[in-house]
Amino acid sequence: MHIYFTFIMFLLGLVLASFLNALIYRIDNGYKYPDIFIKGSHCEKCGKLLKTYELIPVLSYFIFKGRCPVCKYKIPLYYPISELMLGIGMGSIYYYSLSPILYIVLLFFFSFSYYDRVYRAVPAKLVNTFLGLSMLYFASLTIIQSQIPQNALIVGIGASLFIILISKILKKPFGTGDLLVLLGLSIFIDIKLYIGYIYIFLIISTVYAVSKILLKKSTLKTPIPLLPFMYISLSMLFLLNEYVIEFLERIFYL
Ligand SMILES: [Zn+2]
Repeated sequence: MHIYFTFIMFLLGLVLASFLNALIYRIDNGYKYPDIFIKGSHCEKCGKLLKTYELIPVLSYFIFKGRCPVCKYKIPLYYPISELMLGIGMGSIYYYSLSPILYIVLLFFFSFSYYDRVYRAVPAKLVNTFLGLSMLYFASLTIIQSQIPQNALIVGIGASLFIILISKILKKPFGTGDLLVLLGLSIFIDIKLYIGYIYIFLIISTVYAVSKILLKKSTLKTPIPLLPFMYISLSMLFLLNEYVIEFLERIFYL
């Protein structure tokens, strides 16, 4: 039964991601109500209306080999990946019975990722709302448990300072938004998970950057939007959580 509901959560994540991607895209491109909700999904380039069977998250991307069936416009690989990650993330939070607040955190990361990919920046309102939520969460936990909650805030501050230092050395500006998001996240998860998160994030983003350079698609100077990687890493953290903790305990004797 548990597996069955996990699968439902996974599917729900896929569908929700596909819906939200379309919704953010429409809000962003100035669609007016009620078009935002009722206009059928269509190709971003030629406007071909998609049929219901062409809208299956992730799968339809592979059925059409990543291209619009009419104009052959290359659909960004980002879409199926971001859908899959929301599915995996939501399924994992349910499977491991992690704190329900993490569904909301994951959705925030999903939207940060969208904006960072398109604009290389996240709207300040969105980041501020996330930080406000994290402070509220911190305060309510402190009151309910009448003690300082066991979270990774200290490590979060440490990690942020470390990243500022590295970006100074590499002369690569690290977005303030990225740092605030990392800091906010440290309030929602405990220290071990957070350290695991930083590891996963460093591994995934480094592998991506190095392979881009090896394929000569970018150089060291090409800026990479980091929030999509933070989003993917969060989903992977939820998927691997027990293994990550076990791994860290083994190498650090935590
Ligand atoms: Zn098209």
